[in-house]
Amino acid sequence: MAYQRIVVKLGTSVLTGGTPKLDHPHMVELVRQCAELYRQRKDMIICTSGAIAVGRHRLGFPDLPNTVANKQMLAAVGQSRLMQMWERYFEIYDIHVGQMLLTRADVTNRKRYLNARDTLLTLLENRIVPVINENDAVATEEIKVGDNDNLSALVSTLAEADLLLLLTDQPGLFTADPRTNPDAELIPEVHKIDETVRALAGGSVSGLGVGGMATKLQAADVARRAGADVVIAAGSAPNVIARIAGGESVGTRFPALENPLENRKRWIFAGRKPQGCVQVDVGAARALLENGRSLLPAGITAVSGTFNRGDSICIEGPDGKELARGIARYASNDLQQIAGMHSDQVEAKLGYGYGPVAVHRNDLILL
Ligand code: GLU
Repeated sequence: MAYQRIVVKLGTSVLTGGTPKLDHPHMVELVRQCAELYRQRKDMIICTSGAIAVGRHRLGFPDLPNTVANKQMLAAVGQSRLMQMWERYFEIYDIHVGQMLLTRADVTNRKRYLNARDTLLTLLENRIVPVINENDAVATEEIKVGDNDNLSALVSTLAEADLLLLLTDQPGLFTADPRTNPDAELIPEVHKIDETVRALAGGSVSGLGVGGMATKLQAADVARRAGADVVIAAGSAPNVIARIAGGESVGTRFPALENPLENRKRWIFAGRKPQGCVQVDVGAARALLENGRSLLPAGITAVSGTFNRGDSICIEGPDGKELARGIARYASNDLQQIAGMHSDQVEAKLGYGYGPVAVHRNDLILL
């Protein structure tokens, strides 16, 4: 497998080696590996964590209350310092870098999504390595992606990358927790991310970073639906980036789904947090899953949450399990009124109409 566009996500634990400070020689080594692939004309994208940790170090580990404002201050100080390091280390290899700081708001709005994508693609066209982090200094809870695993999946989606490397302090996903169970074995390949696999990830969080195995699985799920192979591996493994890019089996690989989502659907899946849910009856569930149909008001049995027309919602089957995600053509208060109704009656009931479907099949992703 010859990968062409590679997103390398570097967790705080990788950049610090588990200490409270950046491990500069290791950063240089990671850059060396990226530079080698860059010379082979690959497009390299870095998704870096560490802003908060670096800010804390830079200010001499101040004893601050754990408030949002303080964390944002640490991120503001740390991000510029972190960027200075990436800039300096890539310069060794005569490679330019460009910083992009994103939040969820940059991908939930279609226009901003296209904008961010243009910037990213233009950097790559000009052989500049994008170095991306969440805009922690300003991102509030509502617009935050929250962890760089998911952020890197959004970046893979935006860039249409074919490989996402989630480098961390663990060698991959194990059959049990390797820290407590000596029989735990590394799982080399995962084809389906289901409840069993999620249970293996538990809630593990490592050191200074925000993410853990659970957020890595979420990220893997998003990125592989968008057409990227995803690999979770240890950032400290020798020559890890180059080996994985060369197709060697290292860590845990999640092969890309064969029919990657088309662009608009990627955006639906990656960009937006669902604002609400509708529950559908057996007939509607079957029409969606087996016949590729749109969701009609007639099949809706319940509506929860408050959402507007154009918002992303989840669609649940009669058993309450999410089957699909899509863009609502009617707001929640409209759907409350027209749930269970034949499409012909919608306009008479509401006094207006936006067409016969509640969620059009072109705006829908089956899960
Ligand atoms: N954006 C955060 C930072 O730079 C890291 C989030 C994470 O660890 O996933 O500190």
